[in-house]
Amino acid sequence: MTQVNQILLAERIQIGADLDAWMMEGGTRGLKAALAKPEQIIAAIRDADLRGLGGSGFPTWKKWKLLAAHPKDKRKYLIVNGNEDEPGTFKDEILLEKTPHQVIEGSIITALACNIDHIVFYINPELEEAIYAMNRAVEQWRNVVWIEEIEKALERKLSLQVMPSSGHYIGGEETAAIESVEGNFPFPRGKPPFPSEHGVYGYPTLVNNVETIAHVCHILANGAEWYRNIGVDQASGTKIYCVSGDVLKPGAYELPMGTSLRELIFDHGGGMLRGKEIKAVFTGGPSNTILTPRDLDVHLDFESVKARNSALGTGAMIVVSKGTGIVKRVTEYVNFFAASSCGQCPPCKTGTFYISQLLGRIDTGCGTRSDLESLINLCKILPGTGKCALLNGAVTVVRSSLDHFMEEYENSLNRTPLHISLDNNG
Ligand code: SF4
Repeated sequence: MTQVNQILLAERIQIGADLDAWMMEGGTRGLKAALAKPEQIIAAIRDADLRGLGGSGFPTWKKWKLLAAHPKDKRKYLIVNGNEDEPGTFKDEILLEKTPHQVIEGSIITALACNIDHIVFYINPELEEAIYAMNRAVEQWRNVVWIEEIEKALERKLSLQVMPSSGHYIGGEETAAIESVEGNFPFPRGKPPFPSEHGVYGYPTLVNNVETIAHVCHILANGAEWYRNIGVDQASGTKIYCVSGDVLKPGAYELPMGTSLRELIFDHGGGMLRGKEIKAVFTGGPSNTILTPRDLDVHLDFESVKARNSALGTGAMIVVSKGTGIVKRVTEYVNFFAASSCGQCPPCKTGTFYISQLLGRIDTGCGTRSDLESLINLCKILPGTGKCALLNGAVTVVRSSLDHFMEEYENSLNRTPLHISLDNNG
């Protein structure tokens, strides 16, 4: 078993919303280092190779550099994205609720690096405890004396705001989050212009996931080399993997990047329920290519999972055992995506709806061969026709299930119930 090297969920920082306790345990060391040399923050994040942990895997420092390039006195926004709503993902909820100070400290360091003066903690409204904890924690930060020192370094006032999101899954997409922060329905915007140029109310805006931001204070406090020494060559630090489904110990496990899927399921997730065999693992959303038992030794980092034609995504792993109907499970996920479509792109609005209808027919034994062929065709023509990643994600999970489990689809066709005659002569 890999040595568990926790950073974000370490025992010592399970301290709820108490800022004094956070400081006594070494909290704010990162902020002090950042205040001493603000011009070196982005280099530290680059050297640590911190990546976007909400699913993109994009190098964090590259986004930050775009924001920092604007004039220092220009209004800029940071949206700390806690809209978490995907099936099987619950890591940001834990971070916001249990360790709000490391999220706040990380966001202030980010503000110092990019000269940002408005920070918005954008949180799924269903995460009531997280919103409460963040509000309480933000209030404590507003009252610390050295917030003046931070504002002196920024050369202006720093606004910290906790904002419940609209509650739509699509509101987690970065341009949709920007719309939502402006008070609009979270319709994703086309790009360009990119948020770094034209974000909230037209001002440069950085959108980073909660987990990404939570790492920042630790990197500044302990150095980039310390962070790089955790994880694997191509992926630094730790990742919070959410394991759910047919495992004995579902939960959120913070482990070094690159931990194998086998270790995650069997050593940390406790193995399969009732000794069942694994049939499939829905990864990161679940809007990616399905992993199968052949992939158990894949290392769970961005590049290694990509090499299997899938994606790490949010790090959520939904484990499914033999005996589970894949068509039913995929139908449930596509229903979720169809209900979550914002509807502004006709191929997405009608495509996800039509796919969900076809899947429903096939799953209930009423589907025809022509339905299956339509499903296959839709998987060919729909990708790339939506403004955001929702449509591609919905299609990917269907196409992958067809690739791996076509036999199940075939067996589900035309299972018309037997006609039982009540006629004694029949
Ligand atoms: Fe909305 Fe779907 Fe278009 Fe995304 S792809 S913007 S969810 S309609």
